[in-house]
Amino acid sequence: TGSGLIVSFGEMLIDFVPTVSGVSLAEAPGFLKAPGGAPANVAIAVARLGGKAAFIGKLGDDEFGQMLAGIVKENGVRGDGITFDQGARTALAFVTLRADGEREFMFYRNPSADMLLKPEELNLELIRSAKVFHYGSISLIVEPCRSAHLKAMEVAKDAGSLLSYDPNLRLPLWPSPEEAREQILSIWEKADVIKVSDEELVFLTGRNTIDDATALSLWHPNLKLLLVTLGEHGSKYYTKNFHGSVDAFHVNTVDTTGAGDSFVGALLSKIVDDQSILDDEPRLRQVLKFANACGAITTAKKGAIPALPTETEALSLINE
Ligand code: ADP
Repeated sequence: TGSGLIVSFGEMLIDFVPTVSGVSLAEAPGFLKAPGGAPANVAIAVARLGGKAAFIGKLGDDEFGQMLAGIVKENGVRGDGITFDQGARTALAFVTLRADGEREFMFYRNPSADMLLKPEELNLELIRSAKVFHYGSISLIVEPCRSAHLKAMEVAKDAGSLLSYDPNLRLPLWPSPEEAREQILSIWEKADVIKVSDEELVFLTGRNTIDDATALSLWHPNLKLLLVTLGEHGSKYYTKNFHGSVDAFHVNTVDTTGAGDSFVGALLSKIVDDQSILDDEPRLRQVLKFANACGAITTAKKGAIPALPTETEALSLINE
């Protein structure tokens, strides 16, 4: 695991998950609080693996914001990029897997603090010290967070950071699918490394086959690595010079929340000190095997943050 700093920018929120499974939100007798938010998960994934991570985002000045800032700190992630909004509350999500197998989501975002992060509130010194800058907030869509996103990307790029992007598409949050596609693709070309899931690939390309031609239709000349994650089917990688796939590990999956973030955190923690891995297929395959192992372990426990592995756990699954 590398020693360079990985800065992850975006939202941190609390998922309220029903205490019993297979019910609708309205029927839930009570809720458990599960901290999450993809960019925060990535920062904690890096720290759990022994890497250096910082999180940048805005929280509400309320009990939930205090709880989340505490979780960042407890997990050894630098929190000096966190700001608190004096008016708005921390983002909350209510999530359930109903008996009919459908996921039901409700968000408290009207607006939540994460959406109100202003460009002038960014800790620029922290961003400039990032070897890797990772972003992919679901609040990219709204001002002022959108401008903060764009400014942070620009500052990181100018400082020579490697830019890593995960669109984290949550389609119901967008005004329309067209706007989602357009906005996501408008920041595509700034990234050096992009990770999409198979569903995102289908959505962004408008094609319904997940083959190499579909993935490569999203290629842009500045890109160094495009990853497509396929859940229990592992992951695919594309670079300028080579492409291929790496199988998943078999585990007893109970909850896939955070698998993609665990995968991204693992990848970034391995390339942060040595980007030549991106040009070296055998070494890249080793790294992706490690990232697949981290993703798999995350599915074998409930929740996202509690399920993120240490390096020892990941290596023991690989060597099993
Ligand atoms: P996302 O959470 O972004 O949709 P995935 O669910 O594809 O991403 O998960 C990321 C990675 O985690 C996958 O590429 C795979 O290596 C691993 N993973 C996810 N689900 C499983 C599973 N059910 N069994 C084994 N590995 C998994």
